[in-house]
Amino acid sequence: MSNPSLLILPGDGIGPEVMAEVRKIIEWFGDRRDLKFDVTEDLVGGCSYDVHGVPLTDEVMNKAQSVDAVLLGAVGGPKYDGLDFSVKPERGLLRLRKEMDLFANLRPAQCFDALADFSSLKREVVAGLDIMIVRELTSGIYFGEPRGIITEGNERVGINTQRYTESEIDRVARSAFELARKRDGRVCSMEKANVMESGILWREVVQRVHDADYPDIELSHMYADNGGMQLVRNPKQFDVIVTDNLFGDLLSDVAAMLTGSLGMLPSASLGAPMENGRPKALYEPVHGSAPDIAGQGKANPIACILSFAMALRYSFDRGDEATRLEKAVEQVLADGVRTADLMQTEGGRAASTAEMGDAIIAALEGSL
Ligand code: NAD
Repeated sequence: MSNPSLLILPGDGIGPEVMAEVRKIIEWFGDRRDLKFDVTEDLVGGCSYDVHGVPLTDEVMNKAQSVDAVLLGAVGGPKYDGLDFSVKPERGLLRLRKEMDLFANLRPAQCFDALADFSSLKREVVAGLDIMIVRELTSGIYFGEPRGIITEGNERVGINTQRYTESEIDRVARSAFELARKRDGRVCSMEKANVMESGILWREVVQRVHDADYPDIELSHMYADNGGMQLVRNPKQFDVIVTDNLFGDLLSDVAAMLTGSLGMLPSASLGAPMENGRPKALYEPVHGSAPDIAGQGKANPIACILSFAMALRYSFDRGDEATRLEKAVEQVLADGVRTADLMQTEGGRAASTAEMGDAIIAALEGSL
């Protein structure tokens, strides 16, 4: 059997710096765990614009469609701020998401013990937290028609429409149930069925998909406003949360802050299963290209490294090796290795991007 294929798009700013550490880790898994990938690397964002005049070429788009998973660093930077909207670096990323039809956005909120004091919540509420928010990404109120600002009588009216088809709800619910099978086996679906018809349909369809195909998963339903409250009151009660585009936008940002630093947050966007059964998938850190620290070796590579761990688990069915990598990160943090963004007070020496990567590889070695 051939190796699974991975397209790496480091992008701009700190993207290439953090991705260089991921490349070392991918090599480690090839050498030491016999888990080899066919890796190709290409351009996205401003660096693609510099060479080709577009933030994503058709050739790279086609590659992205044909590989088993895409791993992206970050795009953008002040150099490109004046560009026409149609060729801005972010358009490259949007094109990838749209053409791959990545309808399920996965944002884990995982709080490593050693960083629990970074959270705005009490240590005991967040230490050891490990939840996953699945947000529907391609429909709902950000896309529904009619939309716009119209004039009615002597005043203007702003209009957006929350709209979900049964099939849109069905497919994102399936993504959530599949994920739960690789985790703790629990899904909580959030909507506002008490005041929104789209919420009533959402609840009905999620329940139907569950009863038909995922009876092994424990399903609960919660109104999204209560969900927000519960996320800050007792976030550890959840395993997987599935919700629509609007509520997911808000709830995933709340959950992200439970864990402290932007340099720690991975994400994945998944689409429909391909012929080989794997979902179309794009893995990327939540953070941007951080132009303020780019080129200085200060960036924290952990968000990008944990994005690769998500790829191991959700694209390549290697939850065992994903856990190994996550535990290595945990170990390094527990040992007190910190990039500058993880240092609460002045004093002490910050590890560079490469030193953090090397420490994680040493911890991986130690796990054998
Ligand atoms: P940002 O996430 O790049 O940076 C915000 C702050 O967090 C900065 O102070 C930065 O130094 C810090 N930071 C971010 N990642 C870090 C890391 N790994 N280690 C240490 N510190 C880190 O957001 P921004 O400054 O609003 O945007 C900068 C550029 O990135 C813009 O061009 C923006 O459009 C783009 N952007 C891209 C993406 C993406 O590629 N997905 C996402 C957000 C922003």
